Formats: sequence, C-alpha cells, structure tokens
Amino acid sequence: MPPTPAVTVRVPAKVNAQLAVGGPRPDGFHDLANVFLAVDLYDRVTAAPADAGADPAVPRVTCAGPGSDLVPLDGGNLAVRAAVLLAGHHGRPPAVRLHIDKDIPVAGGMAGGSADAAGALLACDALWGTRTPREVLLDLCARLGSDVPFSLVGGAALGRGRGERLTPLPVGGTFHWVFALADGGLSTPAVYRECDRLRAAAPVPEPEADPALLAALAAGDPYALAAALPGANDLQPAALSLRPALDETLRAGTGAGALAGLVSGSGPTVAFLTADAGTARKVAAALETSGTCRAARATTAPAPGATTIVSHA
Ligand code: ATP
Repeated sequence: MPPTPAVTVRVPAKVNAQLAVGGPRPDGFHDLANVFLAVDLYDRVTAAPADAGADPAVPRVTCAGPGSDLVPLDGGNLAVRAAVLLAGHHGRPPAVRLHIDKDIPVAGGMAGGSADAAGALLACDALWGTRTPREVLLDLCARLGSDVPFSLVGGAALGRGRGERLTPLPVGGTFHWVFALADGGLSTPAVYRECDRLRAAAPVPEPEADPALLAALAAGDPYALAAALPGANDLQPAALSLRPALDETLRAGTGAGALAGLVSGSGPTVAFLTADAGTARKVAAALETSGTCRAARATTAPAPGATTIVSHA
C-alpha cells in the first residue's frame, strides 16, 4: 500500500526571557521588547489531504493531548486560520485535514496556538507543493499573530513592534529551563488589561531590551541571565494579581534550587532557570510533588523553529 500523503511539522514553545511592555497604543496593541527563546517542548501539526466528500473550502482539524478540550475545532483554531490564509495567498482551496498533537500547555503563555499556526503554514505549504518563499511565510505569520513569526524561526530573537519584527540573537550555550504547568489557562488579553490597570497611575517608559540580559544570553552564562530575570517580565505583576497562587509556585521552584523564576509570558505557566541539566531534573521533580502546579517539565533552550519531521507528500 502506498504511504498516506501527509506532512508532520514539529514546532517549539517559547519562553520570554524578557517581556518589556509599553503603554497601550491607540490600536489596542502594546509596543514590546520581547526576548524570545524557543524551548524543546513541542506541538506536532500534521497536514493530510481532505477526506473524500469533505468541503474543500473548510479545513478540518482534530486535536489530542493535555488541554486539547480547550482548543477550538472550528475557524477560530489558529492552525485552520493559517491554512485558510496560505490557500488564499495562492488562490487555491484550503482543502486539508489537520491534526494537532499538543504538548505545549493551552493558554499557558508559551505561544502554543502560535506554534500550531506556524506548523500548519509549513505543513500545508509542503502538502500542497506551493513552495512559498520564506519571507512570504514570515509575512503571513505576522498577519496571524504577534508570536507566530518567532514560532517559525525558533532559536532566540528580539521581537519589536507587537513582537513580530524579529532580530536573531546570539546565544553562547544551552540554558536549562523548568516549566511549572498550571491547571487552567489565563487569557492573554485579560492579562494585558490588568497590566494597563495596575500601571495606569504613572507614565510607562518605552520598552527596551536589557543589555545585561542580552550579554548573558550571548555568553551562555546562566548565573548572569538569572541575575537579569527579576522584573524582566512586565506582565508578571498582572498575572500574579489575577492568579495569586502563582507566588507559591515561584517560591517552590526557587526553594528547590532554581537560580531564578518568572511567569512565562502572560502565564500561568511559571519558568525556572537552572544551572545545569541535573538541577533542572531535581527542580522538576520537586515541583511535581509540591502541590503548586499540575506538572513540571525540564527543557533546554534554544530549540530550533518549525521543522518538518515526517513527509510522505
Ligand atoms: P501566548 O503565549 O501567545 O499569549 P498562550 O500560550 O497563552 O498564548 P494559546 O495556547 O496560544 O495561549 O491559546 C490561547 C487561546 O487561543 C486558547 O484559549 C484557545 O481558545 C485559542 N486557540 C486557537 N487555536 C489554538 C490552538 N491551535 N492551540 C491552542 N489554543 C488555540
């Protein structure tokens, strides 16, 4: 029997080593200085030909894995939106069957939906043989969401504008991060609103990348990076305000030997930087039994961006 034509793309989660947030813009967005690091925690997106008899104008999507019950399976799914956008760009029907194997926590501040959008773009492009140039793919990514271009490129990058204007960053070594995964998610727009509310009384400075943090990344020095992490995420006070229990998670991780902890993006995932792989395993094990999170995962960064891992097309 010939193999089923299908393409599977693996896409990483991200952590923001720094997330500097400006005041609200008239269009409702915020200017950011966003230091993205891709971590080796992946979703897998598979694109296969639409079933016989399926409406070629409507991509079908299924999803499996933790939190998949929270993922919309209609036109609101970011992978579906990506398939529709790519098909429209090429003037062809978005006939495809998508499947998402989720490992990135849903609504966890790790850009899981953005990862699926980047994965679907790459998988559909290969399945349909549309050979979209990289710059065009990046442009389509930016139209899908602020974090989507980074999900495509991975590694480490500084995101300006809404986070979509990327400059690659040098990284001098492997960093060991542990993630404490929470029960339930936090809505990113709600966290931004809370951030604006908490900062309403004082002027908000222009967001700038911290030179000490960038130097620590370039040197591959976890101790220097840990020293730069406190206060690096401007969304952290808002996430803690909406979910005060995250403070206990932060204390559990640092108490178990992490060099530093911070809320990952808009939360509620909490990220801990550790000195080495052994400490990362120890901190993850301690978090698992701390009762302050649903699960914990030891990871490394930087990880590669969206990568085709199976292609029968
Ligand atoms: P970010 O870090 O980019 O702010 P996040 O990691 O906090 O995002 P996501 O997992 O991307 O959050 O999900 C945010 C919301 O997007 C979900 O609650 C869900 O309703 C919707 N969504 C749409 N498509 C997807 C998808 N493929 N995977 C996960 N969520 C999706």
